[in-house]
Amino acid sequence: MKLVFATGNSGKLREASEILGEGFELVTPAQVGITEDIPETGKTLRANSLQKAQYLFDKCGCNCFADDTGLEVDALGGAPGVYTARYAGEDKDFNKNMDKVLHELSVLEGEAQMAASLGLSVKPVSRRACFKSVITLIINGEKKIFEGKLEGEIAREKSGNGGFGYDPIFIPDEFPGKTLADITEEQKNEISHRGKALRAMAEWLKK
Ligand code: IMP
Repeated sequence: MKLVFATGNSGKLREASEILGEGFELVTPAQVGITEDIPETGKTLRANSLQKAQYLFDKCGCNCFADDTGLEVDALGGAPGVYTARYAGEDKDFNKNMDKVLHELSVLEGEAQMAASLGLSVKPVSRRACFKSVITLIINGEKKIFEGKLEGEIAREKSGNGGFGYDPIFIPDEFPGKTLADITEEQKNEISHRGKALRAMAEWLKK
């Protein structure tokens, strides 16, 4: 089955091709003549995912899907969330994005330590976080949503050379002490937010 995947992110494309496997041919927007940035101006992951898939469908009329993913950090009130890609600025620099999350957590920890040293009772700062992926599939004009979630915590420093985006600072519960960038792509795909959402999509399509 041929599907256009609304992404210009080579990491996402590689993962999706591996997760979906044989039987699915993934095509990029550029391959169907869409070279501009696909707008994502929604206030939620679901709105962005729908917007990207709808944009693609309106332009090419093809069967297609879009993924919108966000990192939610408990101690940051769920940020970066829908702003995950541009958390540290419009240049979408993933190193700056990771540095910003690490910095904000260390500021909170510093404040908690200060309060504790003054004898105030303070809870330790949680480093719990999760990735959420929302996929919108448009098939023969019909829309269908699939979601996946990965729980874990934010590392104290970056580690690993694999993956992409925020992977070097995310320690999934399934691999204690290892970030998503430390494990293999196969291991990541087996547990990841995107893996779960894409496998649900593939199951639905097979039915
Ligand atoms: P978007 O879904 O393309 O808008 O991506 C949002 C942001 O999340 C980008 O900065 C991506 O690099 C990052 N991101 C998306 N998926 C993952 C992932 O699986 N691991 C780490 N970062 C990710």
